[in-house]
Amino acid sequence: MFRRPDGRRPGDLRPVTIETGCLKFAPGAVLISAGDTRLLCAATIQEGVPEFLKGKGCGWITAEYAMLPASTPVRKPRETLKPDGRGMEIRRLIGRALRIAVDLKRLGERTIWIDCDVLQADGGTRTLAVTGAWVALALAARTLRRTGQIEADPVVRQVAAVSVGIVAGRPLLDLAYAEDSAAETDMNVVMDAAGRFIEVQGTAEKTPFEQADLDRMLALARAGCRRLFRAQAAALAGPRRPTA
Ligand code: UDP
Repeated sequence: MFRRPDGRRPGDLRPVTIETGCLKFAPGAVLISAGDTRLLCAATIQEGVPEFLKGKGCGWITAEYAMLPASTPVRKPRETLKPDGRGMEIRRLIGRALRIAVDLKRLGERTIWIDCDVLQADGGTRTLAVTGAWVALALAARTLRRTGQIEADPVVRQVAAVSVGIVAGRPLLDLAYAEDSAAETDMNVVMDAAGRFIEVQGTAEKTPFEQADLDRMLALARAGCRRLFRAQAAALAGPRRPTA
């Protein structure tokens, strides 16, 4: 039988844990891990919005993403001035995914910053960042309501993301680095809890893929996201509780 390096079946996620309450000062923060990939996602709230939104009564959400130097097998120098192209692309992906989760009018003229820092990278950091950032965002929104700053919950949609790919001709869910680096096709899928697609980024790295492969990868991603939605909901249901 076909075995993945860590013994998973093609449609298995890596074990997921989402731990809340890990930072004192951030109104929303989670430590999220999927196997050996581990990130800190923190949401902080700032009064005011960027210039282009001023006076519109609308809020804004913006995301940052960085890999800590020791998060990779070869030390990755800190991005002290600006992120590299990959980092920029990932920031924008996280920002788009979270803005669609929120009714920005309900947020009022304030900005939520989402900071995603990779503590350890073993593939799938951008998708795990989206999944963790959504929980951090939901916690920050809860703080805004609890403190009476806003009335209605601005988070109107649950969002999670997962990677899929084709390795040695087989569609696989949630690629670890060893699989990712050998993948013929690599795809990142962002979904909502109603099973609709928010973003699909797929690239044939070695061999072009067939429509049937695409359908199989999307089916795997849908099943994976369903489990991630449950993990997110469990994390929100209780403080400081790791979830599986
Ligand atoms: N990676 C690395 N150093 C880098 C970029 C990536 O070691 O500068 C590794 C890391 O394990 C990462 C994986 O390559 O998770 C896949 O990178 P990719 O750009 O596909 O993003 P990801 O899968 O993390 O979203």
